Amino acid sequence: MEKHQVIIIGAGPAGATCAKALHDAGVQALIIEKELLPRHKTCSGVLFGQTQELLLQFFGALPPEDIYCEPKTIHASQIIEWKHEQGFIQYFWEIPKNGHAFPQTYFNAWRNKFDHWLVKQSGAALRENCLFRGFTAEQEQIRVDVFLRGSKILEPGGKGDPNRTIQCDYLVGADGSASAVRRALTPDVWAATPEVIYYQEYCPITDMGTLHEGCWHVFFEKSVGKMLCCVHRKDDYLVPCVGSFRGGDLRACMEAFKGFLGENFKVILGRQERVEGVVIKMWQPDLGRGRVLLAGEAGGFRYLNDEGIDAAMDSGYRCGTAIARALREGSDALEYYRESAEDILRHVQKCAEQMQFLVDKKKEKNHLFSALR
Ligand SMILES: Cc1cc2nc3c(=O)[nH]c(=O)nc-3n(C[C@H](O)[C@H](O)[C@H](O)COP(=O)(O)OP(=O)(O)OC[C@H]3O[C@@H](n4cnc5c(N)ncnc54)[C@H](O)[C@@H]3O)c2cc1C
Repeated sequence: MEKHQVIIIGAGPAGATCAKALHDAGVQALIIEKELLPRHKTCSGVLFGQTQELLLQFFGALPPEDIYCEPKTIHASQIIEWKHEQGFIQYFWEIPKNGHAFPQTYFNAWRNKFDHWLVKQSGAALRENCLFRGFTAEQEQIRVDVFLRGSKILEPGGKGDPNRTIQCDYLVGADGSASAVRRALTPDVWAATPEVIYYQEYCPITDMGTLHEGCWHVFFEKSVGKMLCCVHRKDDYLVPCVGSFRGGDLRACMEAFKGFLGENFKVILGRQERVEGVVIKMWQPDLGRGRVLLAGEAGGFRYLNDEGIDAAMDSGYRCGTAIARALREGSDALEYYRESAEDILRHVQKCAEQMQFLVDKKKEKNHLFSALR
């Protein structure tokens, strides 16, 4: 049977950075990714200040020019919230961590290109188009079941069967906001955790109207929905984004949002050319069990307003470092990971308490915070 020391599920920022930490420590990992890369990911694609610092720290460089879109930079002061009475005011997205303030100029990136670049820098082996389906842990070994999406089913159980089992010593769930690894690890928690969904469209710009060039516009607009909605430019597209708790009609929210932008800001958009959507489990941070570790959104690592590339990278790197150390010393990776991730967890908690867009004004209840308790 095929065997690896470490298998990482997910080629996003958490998986790529976990693999990089292992590679730096001389451990080769296999990343398993269900999509073909470069793949799209529902995201505004803003590389915040902390993300830039982590890129320099872990990868030694910022990404090359071809991953960015126009406007390339967004200053913190250009993230603006519109209020009926006041007009636009600055909206604070990234907050200092443990008293450390980050660079205030952010980069506007294409997530598909950024993630692809990151995984290429990781030094890991990558198996694309390969879906993680489940695992069984037996003593020191973990058996990981995958499905090769590209292959044709020829003989079930024989040559050409797309179902495979691969062995490893450590399994890392870096498979994002609705993690199948976390689901397999804690099915009861998975089922009981509330979900938020986001939806965004890439619409060619006909007229930006009175929206401010170079700005990221944020709204809490009752006529659109209960959550934050936002819009910003990526090259020749405006990308409106809306969110809802599970069960909400996101297409109706999107139509309301576009109507609101047209009515109040004279924005004229062409027909959307691409749509993206994602389910986010609002779970508490959980670093894993035994030799199965969780990083990035799978582990519940996200900061204010769902800013998460940095939280994914930081948790991923510490997860990889902990596994490398445990392999070297024959000790407990999860224990090391817990110790080293303490400051990230504190920041996750601080951000959760400030997550104003998940506050239901009527009930004055912060859904994420209550989910965390
Ligand atoms: C609307 C929106 C806008 C956002 N904007 C920003 C922003 O501007 N800046 C920012 O810092 N953060 C932003 N975030 C958050 C950010 O996108 C996430 O926090 C970040 O992508 C998490 O990284 P990750 O590596 O944990 O997971 P992901 O990036 O989701 O990567 C997980 C990978 O696992 C793969 N995968 C999933 N299931 C399986 C499976 N069963 N088998 C194999 N592979 C699998 C997926 O295909 C994916 O490639 C935004 C989030 C949303 C919803």
